[in-house]
Amino acid sequence: MTAKLRIIIVGSGLAGLAAARILREHHDVTVYERGGTDTATGGQGICLFSNGVKILQTMGFDRARVGAVPCYGYRALDKNGNQLQDFPVDFKAKYGADTLAMKRSDFRDELLLLATAPSEHLGIQGHPAQVIFNTNVVDIDPEEASITLEDGSVVGADVVIIADGVHSRLRHRIVGSDARAKKNGMTCYRVAVSAEAVKHTLGYLPAWWDPQTADGRISAFQAGDGSNRLIAAYAIRNAEYMNLACVFPTRQNRGNVLESWYADGNRREMIETFDDYYEPMRKILGIATEVKVWELQDIDPLPNWNRGRTILIGDAAHAMTPMQGQGANMALEDADALRLLRPGMSRKDISSVLEQVDGVRRPRATRVLRDTRVQAKDITLEERIANLDYNCGYNGVFEALKAMK
Ligand SMILES: Cc1cc2nc3c(=O)[nH]c(=O)nc-3n(C[C@H](O)[C@H](O)[C@H](O)COP(=O)(O)OP(=O)(O)OC[C@H]3O[C@@H](n4cnc5c(N)ncnc54)[C@H](O)[C@@H]3O)c2cc1C
Repeated sequence: MTAKLRIIIVGSGLAGLAAARILREHHDVTVYERGGTDTATGGQGICLFSNGVKILQTMGFDRARVGAVPCYGYRALDKNGNQLQDFPVDFKAKYGADTLAMKRSDFRDELLLLATAPSEHLGIQGHPAQVIFNTNVVDIDPEEASITLEDGSVVGADVVIIADGVHSRLRHRIVGSDARAKKNGMTCYRVAVSAEAVKHTLGYLPAWWDPQTADGRISAFQAGDGSNRLIAAYAIRNAEYMNLACVFPTRQNRGNVLESWYADGNRREMIETFDDYYEPMRKILGIATEVKVWELQDIDPLPNWNRGRTILIGDAAHAMTPMQGQGANMALEDADALRLLRPGMSRKDISSVLEQVDGVRRPRATRVLRDTRVQAKDITLEERIANLDYNCGYNGVFEALKAMK
């Protein structure tokens, strides 16, 4: 039997679980998660673009189980719901896979299943990853590939993967300095509203929502008055819900209150911020039951992601704002790159393989981060299309390595 590596992953967010699914086929994987089993859930949506979906398709991802809704481009509207611009995109024909919108909690459940379900259920080899919840990792030794838990115990492995998110407490052990997230001055309220509730309130579904007329577009309602306010909407969970992300310049610094993805927002503030939008939109925001708030933030590109037998992935390595919807897609690409930890490889080669992962992933994530910063400002349609081509055109680590040669 081929020798397996013992791999520890810190964090069971989207990056950690995707990595666990990829690595479990050939290695022994243990994930340490400081939260409970319901950690990192939230009712709102997430959009996985063709680059991420191509990787999901190699993982046994079941889009029907998740109720994923395919997107077919973008539509710009004004705050009265009048269409300004339509930009159809056939993602599958152009980039080789659909772009899919999902409820974030459904997506995470699917990744958890793929990481931990019995191998025979998934039709794959190897053993399920073990996820240990309610266990905070307080320190790591990157060279030794060991972690220290809150009770002081030290657990060793062959490889440690740090996927502890944007506010990583372990990142500094890799990069040496304390790289912290920077807010970009914008706040986002996120709600998921059910079609049933909207039909009940309005008596109909607006054209941009009704599946017969929405044409699968991601709708962006621009305030158009220089106030930099925007509501982006897309359907999720078999189109039973609409995800609405309401973005506007931050009014006050909420400090650490917003350190969590899932901080509760103030519904009244959200409605007041968009009170000049047309009545159907105001009513829709008014019936949102769960309002989450997030101050948009990212981290400057890091000088390295790896050290010794340890590597950063996901937001811990490259947090970016959602202006291109690429954060989780980059996390999937990172997970895919860990396939370079091949079955039977020697322990002494681990650090050079992690160096290779860094070499293939970091320049690309850095470019996507920089493009995302620019996208937050006004850019031309041609520039947006060029970004989409670059993002969605990625075909996994082995093709990326070939292209680098
Ligand atoms: C409003 C908004 C919309 C977005 N929309 C999109 C989108 O449409 N498409 C897209 O691709 N991306 C999107 N993103 C980005 C995407 O959500 C993130 O990139 C992604 O969730 C990052 O996953 P992660 O696993 O790296 O981090 P996280 O999901 O933050 O997971 C980190 C995990 O580590 C655990 N943890 C932390 N510290 C420790 C510790 N010391 N010990 C043990 N466990 C620990 C945490 O509890 C958590 O479970 C969006 C982001 C925002 C804010």
